Amino acid sequence: MYNIAVIGCGVIGVTTALEIQKKYGGIAKVTIVADKFSPKTTSDIAAGLWEPYLLAENDEEDVIRWSKATFDFILKLWKEGKAKDAGICLQPAVNLFNCKNYNTPKWVSVTLGYNELGVRHLESLSKQYNQSFTGGFMFMGFTWEPILFLPHLQKQFLRNGGTIIEKHVQRFNELEDFDVIVNCTGLEARNLSCDRSIVPIRGQVIRVYAPWQYITYLIQCDDDEDACYVIPNRDSVILGGTKQQSFDTTINKNDTDRILKNTSKINYALAKCKKISEVVGLRPSRYRVRLEDEYIETNSGKILGIVHNYGHGGAGITLAIGCAKDASNLVENVLKIKYSKL
Ligand SMILES: Cc1cc2nc3c(=O)[nH]c(=O)nc-3n(C[C@H](O)[C@H](O)[C@H](O)COP(=O)(O)OP(=O)(O)OC[C@H]3O[C@@H](n4cnc5c(N)ncnc54)[C@H](O)[C@@H]3O)c2cc1C
Repeated sequence: MYNIAVIGCGVIGVTTALEIQKKYGGIAKVTIVADKFSPKTTSDIAAGLWEPYLLAENDEEDVIRWSKATFDFILKLWKEGKAKDAGICLQPAVNLFNCKNYNTPKWVSVTLGYNELGVRHLESLSKQYNQSFTGGFMFMGFTWEPILFLPHLQKQFLRNGGTIIEKHVQRFNELEDFDVIVNCTGLEARNLSCDRSIVPIRGQVIRVYAPWQYITYLIQCDDDEDACYVIPNRDSVILGGTKQQSFDTTINKNDTDRILKNTSKINYALAKCKKISEVVGLRPSRYRVRLEDEYIETNSGKILGIVHNYGHGGAGITLAIGCAKDASNLVENVLKIKYSKL
């Protein structure tokens, strides 16, 4: 029986742990080790919109492959009638750009159909929002809400025979008795893996009660001051946001005012709705998602095989299933090297 530890219980940790259980069935014992659980992870702050966002220099083909695996996973649950338990909601998303260099991203082909917005439509929206939109598209996709699905997936992991341990891991060699360690620590990989290329992209969001808002809007501009988004969830609507490189998790009044000003251009009623909460989360951003195996030697001369899966920026929910599949394949590499017999 192989012993596999997954550090982290956000969206990346839980989906990776489940994928490893699926791949290794009865021949591996999987343990999640984490110091924070739902509803206290960064993942819980996310609206859970399926849309590749803030992904720096990741290869477009990888982004399409990872996000398609997640889309197919969500679609399957939705078709099986599991949407309610899994926190899934089908909804249209309108993306508008006030950017000099606008190109429709290739990932739109993954969705349940999309339309480019025509010149007339853009002109009328530009007038409405007091912008000069250079392009836009609309697609049918999903929100997959972490605060609803994380507890559900955790239970599934336990039902499959997994173990969960609450613990802060200071150094990988604390887990040296495991055959493989899978690192899904998000922004904290900065400390655990001493990886300074992972940085926080600060996201401040306001949740309001607006059950009549069904459509997602994302407005992206060359000047971030004018950018905003509105994403409906099951029990609230998320108004955002910010994307500053910063560790500051306090609520900034200027950001609040700007979010309300910009989103009220989409619908002036949103700014007047009952506020449910306002929070700041730090997106784990890296020039590229780190999905690779690494081998380190402990003081006692033992070689630890580590699989890294972190740095998903503003799209951890969108990429989760595809990255979990790649991570579980890397686990196989580590086991092969360790036992040369899989
Ligand atoms: C405001 C906001 C909105 C967002 N909206 C979306 C969206 O709509 N769609 C989307 O796809 N993405 C969205 N994101 C991005 C998404 O939230 C992240 O990419 C994702 O949550 C990263 O997940 P993770 O599991 O890597 O990290 P986390 O959720 O931070 O989980 C990390 C886990 O590792 C554990 N851990 C860390 N270090 C240690 C240690 N040393 N010892 C033990 N345990 C440790 C933590 O306790 C935790 O369990 C949003 C982010 C923000 C901030």
